[in-house]
Amino acid sequence: MPENLLELKNISQIYSSGDSKFTAIREVDLVLQEGEFAALMGPTGCGKSTLLRIITGLQSPTSGRVLYRDQPLTGVNPHATIVFQTFALFPWLTVQENVEVALKARGVPPKLRTTRALDLLDRVGLDGFETAYPRELSGGMLQKVGFARAMAVEPELLCLDEPFSALDVLSAESLRGELLELWTGGKIPTRAILMATHHIEEAVFMADRIVVMDKDPGRVIMNLRVDLPLPRNRKDPKFLNLVDRVYMVLAGQTQPEHVELGTAPGEPGRTRALPHINIDDLTGLLEHLDNMPNNRADIYALAQELQVNSDELLRLIEAAELLGFANVAYGDITLNPLGETFAEASIRSRKEIFATRIRRLPLFKWLLGLLRASDKKQMEWDVVQKALELEFHEEEAERQLDTAIDWGRYAELLAYDDSSQILFLEPGAA
Ligand code: ADP
Ligand code: MG
Repeated sequence: MPENLLELKNISQIYSSGDSKFTAIREVDLVLQEGEFAALMGPTGCGKSTLLRIITGLQSPTSGRVLYRDQPLTGVNPHATIVFQTFALFPWLTVQENVEVALKARGVPPKLRTTRALDLLDRVGLDGFETAYPRELSGGMLQKVGFARAMAVEPELLCLDEPFSALDVLSAESLRGELLELWTGGKIPTRAILMATHHIEEAVFMADRIVVMDKDPGRVIMNLRVDLPLPRNRKDPKFLNLVDRVYMVLAGQTQPEHVELGTAPGEPGRTRALPHINIDDLTGLLEHLDNMPNNRADIYALAQELQVNSDELLRLIEAAELLGFANVAYGDITLNPLGETFAEASIRSRKEIFATRIRRLPLFKWLLGLLRASDKKQMEWDVVQKALELEFHEEEAERQLDTAIDWGRYAELLAYDDSSQILFLEPGAA
């Protein structure tokens, strides 16, 4: 039987400012077992960072209990360490000294400090940079120093607060790989990892379990087990399926898919038409909502704020809903957690989110299926248009295809050569 390393019982956190009180976390129960790597997901403000501070003892909750190895936690947990999104290194110390500082604080004797620091820097791939100063390092390398410093104290529980989100794509990817290697290879004494992240694929790629939170008030809404062997393959249908499930939970998907999305061309039932919108305008709408109080806006007022006519606006809103980024009720449009994630994501992550969302649409599934089935993974525009005319009149079929190509290109699922009028499947979509 794996033992419980950490247990949260009925944790609530209330913050007060002036006279008003605000429930940041309500009645959270969470168990982390030895050997477990859990990811903590949820929209900005759902209390991920707060929960990590409570777990490491940097802050005590308003109510509830934290048990560490079945003992109530009082004060800072000496067996836990937290790595933040941007790791604060001392600029006047070298890389090696920055790691040694953490050991010094724990009373490790000088000789052992040096050996351990050098060993860790080697393990995170910073061999040769011991005497460099932080200003000489790239973001990815700085975060490696952060990891080395966190691991220097050999924490049993490693807490990570969006550790890769400030890094460029390549550094993030290599550091993920290195962390996984240290973890799965048993090269660090860490017994459990809890990682807050915004990045769904990252969570499915690394964690054994995904704890999904929602906000207002912050609470756990779901625990999802990731039962895929390591190392994971991002193209594996099971992987994609899990990513999609997490998206749906985060999007608060309630309608059955076939009702919401329609059917594929040629199948019984109506094919839902794609709203003809410009992706930059859609992004603009989502960013605008992200900046509004409660992520909500009155649709009537929006047309003026965004300087678009009402037809355009309605198409944008329809697209936002169809893609699962926003919900409409009583004349208001509200950005949901997924839309918020999109609005706050990097361009790269936006494309990934967008790709996952359009892959769900029957029209896209159908189109990608056609391309996959053709021997050169390509098709002539005319052929696809003729097929679409089963569902739409000629002019609309043409516009549907235009929009599908526009979206597919943005998502990097499709390519289109205008001169030969041929559609291609992008390697990533094959
Ligand atoms: P997350 O990491 O999921 O984005 P946080 O834990 O940072 O969420 O914040 C949860 C909520 O609590 C937010 O609404 C945030 O503004 C609020 N909050 C966080 N820390 C404090 C604090 N020290 N005082 C008051 N409110 C806070
Ligand atoms: Mg946070």
